[in-house]
Amino acid sequence: MSYEVIMRRPFVAGNWKMFKTAAEARILLSELLPGLSSIKEVEIVLCPPFTTILPVASLLEGTAIGVGAQNMHWEKEGAFTGEVAPPMLAEFCKYVILGHSERRAYFGETDDNVNRKVKAALTHGLVPIMCVGETLTENEAGITREVVITQTKKGLSGVDSASIASVVIAYEPVWAIGTGRAATAEGANNVIAGMIRSWLSQNYGDDIAQQVRILYGGSVKASNAAEFFQFPEIDGALVGGASLKAAEFIPIVKAAAR
Ligand code: PEP
Repeated sequence: MSYEVIMRRPFVAGNWKMFKTAAEARILLSELLPGLSSIKEVEIVLCPPFTTILPVASLLEGTAIGVGAQNMHWEKEGAFTGEVAPPMLAEFCKYVILGHSERRAYFGETDDNVNRKVKAALTHGLVPIMCVGETLTENEAGITREVVITQTKKGLSGVDSASIASVVIAYEPVWAIGTGRAATAEGANNVIAGMIRSWLSQNYGDDIAQQVRILYGGSVKASNAAEFFQFPEIDGALVGGASLKAAEFIPIVKAAAR
């Protein structure tokens, strides 16, 4: 083990899912910005739907808040109707959420697709926020470790040591997403530290594993965020529903600025 203390900058991303028109996004930003712009300790990212990326990016110009997409194709261009390519996103975004459980469950996203997308994101200078997490059935069957490690391993296949520190991993147990039933902070920490970071450490070495930000996601709210962030291995949060409400999202980001 390396005992060098590596400071990972806390990271909080808001996944707006399929919510907010451009006009609605403007209103939300007018509520978010006064509270968020003074928080410098946390890397803050907003991930609106594709159509709202450009207006959100324009409104965030001059702030330290980043913009991300919620998905993308892995090819740089081509006859893929309805898809969006990495260079198109890279014009306006620095981040992209990949392998979200809603994409896996409703749109047939596989570990292989996630892996292609992660590598494409890195190639095009985007920071992938790669989501992994077990379903309730898998959790109850006691196979969380196998599921999470398999998704991590397959998602990162072929990602070399020089690039891995640019990847952000979000541990999002599927049963906690949008349900109001968050994992316990201790349970999330067990998976993040004991499974994901430990796998990274075995495969990339301790020093590199210590540089990777690993987030928790699943019903994070203003009222429970601090419980997660008290664990130093939990580097922040991927926030869905609560990122659409300034009164929830601002305190979550503040809690991450520990
Ligand atoms: C998410 O969409 O990634 C998520 C964690 O959603 P929620 O916070 O609503 O559970």
